[in-house]
Amino acid sequence: MSAAPDGLPPLREVLRRHGLDPKKALGQNFLLDLNLTGKIARQAAPLGGHVVVEIGPGPGGLTRALLAEGADHVVAIEKDPRCLEALAEIAAHHPGRLTVISGDALKVDIATLADGRRMKVVANLPYNVGTQLLLNWIGGETWPPAWSDLTLMFQREVAERIVAAPGSDAYGRLGVLAGWRTRSRILFDVPPEAFTPPPKVTSSVIRIEPRAEPIDVPLARLEAVTAAAFGQRRKMLRQSLKSLGGEALLLRAGIDPQRRAETLDIAEFCRLAKLA
Ligand code: SAM
Repeated sequence: MSAAPDGLPPLREVLRRHGLDPKKALGQNFLLDLNLTGKIARQAAPLGGHVVVEIGPGPGGLTRALLAEGADHVVAIEKDPRCLEALAEIAAHHPGRLTVISGDALKVDIATLADGRRMKVVANLPYNVGTQLLLNWIGGETWPPAWSDLTLMFQREVAERIVAAPGSDAYGRLGVLAGWRTRSRILFDVPPEAFTPPPKVTSSVIRIEPRAEPIDVPLARLEAVTAAAFGQRRKMLRQSLKSLGGEALLLRAGIDPQRRAETLDIAEFCRLAKLA
């Protein structure tokens, strides 16, 4: 098989040579088309002058694209040690530009990876930990965060919940928490056939940017209010928020107790969180 444009072997050969049979438990749905990984990397432009953190590089298709598209330095965190040899080959091909961390991304505070430089996150996320990773990144103590933007692949249904507006079916806890501190938009869909093996559902690439001045409210309280309100989303708020103060709380916040969770915008949720 001939080499890919970056001079490294084609990704199918990488999988074969390193015995990388995809594991479902690790959310391994690989992208083997370097045109597609290039398209994703370009959505995160400009990459020059940035450290790019990649979660779950796997055999390295997106990693290679990020390097080819001009990232100064890529720090890739991979849980599956079987991928390390393949990633070491990419690092050797781009001396000094790729650092691989072997471990669980849930345990890494990505702010520590910036080292005083500008930072972005670009990833085809493992579906089983994607939402938790996003909540870790947007729920940090310090704001604005260490990253300037996130370009992430999620299952389409999760992406829709992240960007959801009040009143829509997809609007819920995730939409309020994401919308509170960030602006986000879906860039394009990726069909199941683009992955090896194909997942059951369509995926979407989404771009997330921090809001400069989100409403000042403790994350834990906003989480508590949204969990209670959307935990019983068909009920009136005076019922679903009973344990947090119910009708009296809603009246103090100037919100009609008969409304339902999905009708409240983010500013209203923040008002409730401040008073709860
Ligand atoms: N970036 C590659 C691509 O696009 O082909 C692989 C993406 S695959 C959807 C998700 C990757 O995340 C896998 O390589 C998997 O081993 C890795 N992974 C799963 N859980 C992880 C975790 N908790 N921390 C770091 N990597 C993880």
